Amino acid sequence: MIKNSPNSAPDDAAQRRAVAPVTVYRVDVVPSYDAALYARARRTLTKIDEVIVPPRDGRAFHVPAGHFFRISCVEGPQVGDLNLWHEQDLSERFFSGKTRALHATHVSTGNRLWSTFPGLRPMATITHDTLDWYGWDDDGAGIHDVIGTRCDPYTNHVLSGVDYDHFCHSNLTRALASAREITRAEAESHVHDVLNVFMCTGFTRESHQYFKKASPVRPGDFIEFFAEIDLLGALSACPAGDCGANLGAGEAQCHPLHVEVFRPEPGALDDWQPPARSGYLGDHGIKSAASTQ
Ligand SMILES: [Zn+2]
Repeated sequence: MIKNSPNSAPDDAAQRRAVAPVTVYRVDVVPSYDAALYARARRTLTKIDEVIVPPRDGRAFHVPAGHFFRISCVEGPQVGDLNLWHEQDLSERFFSGKTRALHATHVSTGNRLWSTFPGLRPMATITHDTLDWYGWDDDGAGIHDVIGTRCDPYTNHVLSGVDYDHFCHSNLTRALASAREITRAEAESHVHDVLNVFMCTGFTRESHQYFKKASPVRPGDFIEFFAEIDLLGALSACPAGDCGANLGAGEAQCHPLHVEVFRPEPGALDDWQPPARSGYLGDHGIKSAASTQ
């Protein structure tokens, strides 16, 4: 809204404002969250891999389709910025904006993390969230947002003139470059808007500006995902720590994050099929669009 152009409201302003809101997407028509299926598989898990993400840095990890991964708080409150790609095709990656539009500004158990066009399918499903008790607080804030893009050196330079190389954008870039053995320049174009794991955010009532609060996450809390397709993930332990204050680059207290990958027992997922790509061929016109790869 442009505050310096105060046009007078029309006579029927109240009437125009009073029309009923309509939810944009009917997410109930897409395959529903099969809580019993995931619960059954969760009872059979064996840990097959783990990564510690150091404070103010990033690490990549691999999760085969049909496996679970968990991001845990260890040592102290810490926000994580998550990127996901199709392991075999980096052009299919997490679509933060569409996930927000389909589900909500903040996600939790039962929500899906959707992929970019033309795939547009669930890449991962959230199967457990120890912070689901938080809900919406009196400021309208929630946990695990798909609003913020990720902290980055470009915005910081514009706003403060300070250069810093350990924002989440750079950490994710380095993690991907290392995992794929490509240059940072090549990797950077694949880094995308994140899921802000454990971050507590909302919009101010007065001006609808994006705000943050100190994360309520504590050691032992975790969010868990089921990989619907083969995933390459990257996680940054944000240099803003628990994101409770606006401090100078590198000044916030930070902690590591723990990523663990789990394999369910064979047979535990007999009813499950990897989701197909959207099926709409459109401008791409590729036959493989309907495949499950
Ligand atoms: Zn960050």
